[in-house]
Amino acid sequence: MDSKDWFEISQIKTNLIVIREKLNHIDPRYHTEYSNIYLINGVKKSLLIDTGSGILPLRPIIEELIGKRSLIVVNTHAHFDHVGSNHEFDEVYIHESEVNKINRSMDISFLKDSPKNIVSLYEDNSFILKPAKKVNVLRDGDIFDLGDIQVNILHCPGHSEGSISLYTNRGELFTGDNAHYGAMYLPKIKKLSHFIRMVYTLVNLCKKENISQIFPSHEDNDLHKEFLVELINSLNKIDSNWNAKKFDRFNNCWKVDIENFMFMIKKEQ
Ligand SMILES: [Zn+2]
Repeated sequence: MDSKDWFEISQIKTNLIVIREKLNHIDPRYHTEYSNIYLINGVKKSLLIDTGSGILPLRPIIEELIGKRSLIVVNTHAHFDHVGSNHEFDEVYIHESEVNKINRSMDISFLKDSPKNIVSLYEDNSFILKPAKKVNVLRDGDIFDLGDIQVNILHCPGHSEGSISLYTNRGELFTGDNAHYGAMYLPKIKKLSHFIRMVYTLVNLCKKENISQIFPSHEDNDLHKEFLVELINSLNKIDSNWNAKKFDRFNNCWKVDIENFMFMIKKEQ
């Protein structure tokens, strides 16, 4: 298979492109249909949000889309489906608490027994993702200036310790895995209130920064900001639905289905 057949590319609006890949076609055990990689094209620079699963080369696709602009590559966090093609780029930014996850090889042998044959493409590299060539540290409050578009970094621990969201000065919020429809991977139940508080900070950010469009790293994109309120309402129903939970062995999580979400909650040790 060729990269052009694998990635689904669409222009969402002026200077914003989404590059999608089907995580379900790599391993359906994550219960996730799509991963979304975003490319913001400013007048001077472009910013790439995540590098996908690494199953097929991403860089040639991106180079065609950015033209002569220079490229900044940012990871929303260090899970394999967001950092897979890091090694193709000259340097990558990630939150300081997850630097050590991408500056070394990542073992993805847990994908070996996926029911999908395409994972055999990982065999060439023995189910190891190569490290990023150079890693730069991101901190809460950092800003990237693309010329006409400014991109702000917000540290949002919860889905992982170093998870970030990004927002622009033109009313866009990129939530990473902190907020999306479908299977959401959450911390242990004891930390759920922290997670809900983090989503509230995103709601407040939307008011303060006049954000109207939300672009998550999985499933549907270009959501209305009311989506965050919908997410909070469903998160608040986890406690009362806790008895209906089912155990998901592959992900070592409790699975609770509520409305448009499948909450995957880390098992207590
Ligand atoms: Zn993810």
